[in-house]
Amino acid sequence: ASPALSRIGLAGLAVMGQNLALNVAEKGFPISVYNRTTSKVDETVQRAQDEGQLPLFGHYTPREFVLSIKRPRSVVILVKAGSPVDQTIAALSDHMEPGDCIIDGGNEWYENTERRIQEVSNKGLLYLGMGVSGGEEGARNGPSLMPVEDGPCVTYIGEGGSGNFVKMVHNGIEYGDMQLISEAYDVLKHVGGLSNDELAEIFAEWNRGELESFLIEITSDIFRVKDDLGDGFLVDKILDKTGMKGTGKWTVQQAAELSVAAPTIAASLDCRYLSGLKEERENAAEVLKEAGLKEEVGSLAKGIDKKRLIDDVRQALYASKICSYAQGMNLLRAKSVEKGWNLNFGELARIWKGGCIIRAVFLDRIKKAYQRNPNLASLVVDPEFAREMVQRQAAWRRVVGLAISAGISTPGMCASLAYFDTYRRARLPANLVQAQRDLFGAHTYERIDRPGSFHTEWKKSA
Ligand code: NAP
Repeated sequence: ASPALSRIGLAGLAVMGQNLALNVAEKGFPISVYNRTTSKVDETVQRAQDEGQLPLFGHYTPREFVLSIKRPRSVVILVKAGSPVDQTIAALSDHMEPGDCIIDGGNEWYENTERRIQEVSNKGLLYLGMGVSGGEEGARNGPSLMPVEDGPCVTYIGEGGSGNFVKMVHNGIEYGDMQLISEAYDVLKHVGGLSNDELAEIFAEWNRGELESFLIEITSDIFRVKDDLGDGFLVDKILDKTGMKGTGKWTVQQAAELSVAAPTIAASLDCRYLSGLKEERENAAEVLKEAGLKEEVGSLAKGIDKKRLIDDVRQALYASKICSYAQGMNLLRAKSVEKGWNLNFGELARIWKGGCIIRAVFLDRIKKAYQRNPNLASLVVDPEFAREMVQRQAAWRRVVGLAISAGISTPGMCASLAYFDTYRRARLPANLVQAQRDLFGAHTYERIDRPGSFHTEWKKSA
């Protein structure tokens, strides 16, 4: 039992909760912990003991837990999003008092947070939706305590569900980054013929340049790990079927709701769905084996200048990434306008520089782009990024072209390139779509040479 009242409480002791609680305790803040299944309380207390008698105190009932915290209380909840959060709030709030605050650190749907802010306010309680990224290691060693040169990676995002919404888009961007990296791997492996050892080296090298980021770093590490259950490398034994928990899907749904194009993030979500169809894909590989282009890949690989391919892929990855972030930031902007959240995009890029999964040196450039122009229409037209995209486009097109010829799908890179090519064109074939809409549905069209809306009796005029 705790000798004195704790500074803070944390309920939900799975991967995130346990590690965050230990992190807080290690920094010298006495913390009370609680979990529905009490064996996890014991587990956490044991870890705190093993790590040097950290000031962490386990409690077995909501009442005992809440009463062990100093008022006004701050209670962080880290349970599964959705109804588990409601159930946890119900269990805890009975014992809480006006002025106490509940902080949901989970990946929650932002509207749930907005509803709960209302609900608990009836009891005089405060409520905050606080996205936490960084996974197990981040929670343990500092998702938000990780300082970068311009401050700790935490900020007040804005009112209502804005914190959860921003975390959701962060995860959507994370899906895009992971997809683009996996495509770079696919091209280097299947067109370039690179071995795992070579891939580990290449990613390590990329991690010393403009692509420097957590995901590139761990990718290099992954290629070095041998299979401890057999021969060869572990990565080659892992089933090609991706799991997911919903934040990527929400991001794409929100993009559609807000009429914001987010094709790279959508492509990464689609790829996760397609990856799940393992049996169907095995069957399709058999039925469509003629489409396998084995010979082409063989001859492409023979004639390939490996060094140049590697450098091209690096550039294609970087350019594709800029487009993906442009989509994510524009989604945030559209939501910010709709909800009046007044999000500060430079500040979001700043807090993503450390601790979280998409942490990357390149986020500093995004921060600066929004500092140069807070109303930037798209990252793609920021002068610095625009210059970088133009410099990389030849390599980018070579990689996508090569992958297409080899029959190796690169949906993320293709989506980014198509986004870029669509956005940078002053005139699109949308005139024809408007003409079709007017012909079959009398939906009218505008003209380039005079104001107003027009309708034509197309069949008569033909
Ligand atoms: P999780 O697997 O999402 O959830 C497990 C926790 O939820 C356990 O403590 C479990 O309690 C509790 N729980 C489930 N249903 C409950 C209910 N009906 N009533 C009360 N408690 C219930 O855990 P996690 O991976 O640590 O993630 C926690 C939150 O952080 C989630 O929102 C997740 O999306 C988010 N997040 C996770 C990561 C990550 O890398 N894992 C990263 C960032 C954010 P019992 O032990 O009693 O079942």
